[in-house]
Parts: sequence; C-alpha cells; structure tokens
Amino acid sequence: MRSANTCPGTVFLVGAGPGDPDLLTLRAARLLAEADVVVYDRLVSPEILALIPPATERVYAGKQASRHTLPQPEINRRLIELAGRYRKVLRLKGGDPFIFGRGGEELAALVAAGIPFAVVPGITAGVGCAASTGIPLTHRDFASVVSFVTGHRQHEALDLDWPALARHGQTLVFYMGARELPEICRRLIAHGLPETTPLAVIQQGTTPRQQVVESTLAAAERHNPLPDATETGLIIVGEVVGLRRR
Ligand code: SAH
Repeated sequence: MRSANTCPGTVFLVGAGPGDPDLLTLRAARLLAEADVVVYDRLVSPEILALIPPATERVYAGKQASRHTLPQPEINRRLIELAGRYRKVLRLKGGDPFIFGRGGEELAALVAAGIPFAVVPGITAGVGCAASTGIPLTHRDFASVVSFVTGHRQHEALDLDWPALARHGQTLVFYMGARELPEICRRLIAHGLPETTPLAVIQQGTTPRQQVVESTLAAAERHNPLPDATETGLIIVGEVVGLRRR
C-alpha cells in the first residue's frame, strides 16, 4: 500500500494463457506471486487463480458478451485508481492481452493518465487449443496462412471480409463465435469454401474440462453442434483439422 502523494505504481498487463497454469510464462508466474493486487477476467481459469497468494487483493472485472460485469471505461478507471494505491498492479487477462483482449484500450487509458506499465504476452487461445487438440495451424500441404478472426457481432452484422476468409489454403480461428457457428458456416460456403471443409469447436481448451466437437461446414450450418452455445468456444476451420485423426 502506498500513500497517495508518491509516484504511481506500475500496471502489468499480463496474458494468463488459455487456462492450463503450465502455459503461463515464467514472467507471468513471477508477477502473480509478487503483485499487490490482481484484476482478473472471466476467462482466467480457476487453476491459475489458485496461484494468487491468499494475502493478495483480488478484483474481478469479468466480462461476458451482453452481460458486462464492469464496463470497459470503469475497468480503465479502476486500474488507474489502483496504481495510485499499490506498487504492482497485475491486470490478468485470458490468453494474450492484445488478441481480442482490449489490451490496447486499457494501455491508452494508462498512458493518458501517466501510469507506468508493462505488457507480458500470453499464449493465445487459438495457439493453446491447437496444441491441446493436435491441430497444426499451418501445414506445408494444407495451410500457408492462419487468421485470427472475431466471430462477435458488431452492430447486428457479422461484418467480415468473407471473400478473403473463404480463400483456399488457410486456417481460420474464430474467437467469440460459437453462438454464430451456423451463420459463419453459411457465409464461408456461400463465398466458396467446400461444404466438406472440416472444423473443430473447442471449449475450455487446455483445462481438464476441455471439450472438442468436430464437424464440417455443411453439418454445422444445418445444426449448431453446441446446443447451448455460449461465446466461449473457439472454432478452427480448415483442412488441418482433418490431420487430428492421423
Ligand atoms: N485474449 C484472449 C481472447 C479473448 S476473446 C486470447 O488471446 O485467447 C474470448 C474468446 O477466446 C472466447 O470466446 C473463446 O473463443 C476464446 N477462448 C479463450 N480461452 C479459451 C479456451 N481455454 N478454450 C477455448 N476458447 C477460448
């Protein structure tokens, strides 16, 4: 704890990786042990939260699509306020802070407020889930491009460059898209991807609760294989998904 008139503490914007604590970076693990306060997201797994020392203050800033626990400007304000009180503020985010993590917005707020910061990268869900399910995201014979795509609707529309996404020879990784899976499949087929293109949906990847469903564009368009689809699944589309079986 610091008195209000000393210089502000540092905010560490840290990626927690996809869930398995063994996939934390050494730097993230060290900062977890040293931080005065941890501000964490809904995506941070219970296994990782268990590594926070009991005496460390915790602030939950979890977000769920359409059910914001704390709106983003409120999180930004809270980080600035905590930096006035503590020496080391750890802002812990699922995966990597700069991959669909709104890390850029939080940094901009810290810079504007003159708060020192550091960014610690994390293993993003696309990379972690590919490893834990045995799907090589690139492959000499099947995919020379991999794209990380948001499947979250902005202003009602799934406003993406579908002709580019439907091009042959790439792997698509959709974040926050499980609920929109049939619509994603419909658009990809309409723009030319074969109906037989395999896909996998991974939930709670890299944790003991990991679930994987495999399907094809045509089948998943007709029927979302995740009956109570939340936005927390990750979708991998491309011929590389078929390599899992081998
Ligand atoms: N910054 C995070 C992504 C935040 S967006 C990262 O780099 O991974 C939230 C989306 O990430 C979820 O909707 C889901 O698509 C994906 N996600 C995060 N962790 C996941 C996990 N363990 N298993 C499957 N998907 C995950």
